[in-house]
Amino acid sequence: MNESQAREKIATLGRSMFQRGLTFGSSGNISVKIADGWLMTPTNVALGDIDPARIAKLDAAGRHLSGDAPTKEAMLHLAMYRERPNAAAVVHLHSTHSVAVSALANIDPADVLPPITAYYVMRVGRLPLIPYYPPGDQGLAEAVGKQAAKHHAVLLANHGPVVAGGSLEAAAGAIEELEETAKLYLMLQGHRTRFLTPEQVAALRERYPS
Ligand SMILES: [Zn+2]
Repeated sequence: MNESQAREKIATLGRSMFQRGLTFGSSGNISVKIADGWLMTPTNVALGDIDPARIAKLDAAGRHLSGDAPTKEAMLHLAMYRERPNAAAVVHLHSTHSVAVSALANIDPADVLPPITAYYVMRVGRLPLIPYYPPGDQGLAEAVGKQAAKHHAVLLANHGPVVAGGSLEAAAGAIEELEETAKLYLMLQGHRTRFLTPEQVAALRERYPS
């Protein structure tokens, strides 16, 4: 995928996510790795209104080269790429159900959501909770970096998910699966529930290693 194709894909995905209510206002951001650095959605722009020509370009050291200023959450993306050399794209959303789950008092910080469906296990896998940090705090990127080597998806407490993928489609598919699973989890609160068994989860992990 060349740079102009990547710019178009970011704008198309952003519009689709915004129209489907996965992000709102100017929240959420998308990045893609290119040959000489990264493309990243700009700060203070709705994902539904991204101009491909104005997407921020960063060099291989993460410095802003051209286009509008990148998202203030650029450090989250760069922390993921630093620990995951095969990551080709990162998506971060403030998607409603995932944020709601990230604020629940009784979740397991080592793996937030139970295995409700096979697709969740295959696309997301284990989901660690990153402790709360205020916006812009460098500690947040450091905490993401600590989990990123082992996990391509993390959930920021009282904030939202950050997901890396081997392609933009894979990152988008995984973060959407995560959001839908969070929605299912909330729907199931108070209901007697059968999650996948540890044996079923182990068989999926063996068959579809992430
Ligand atoms: Zn955020």
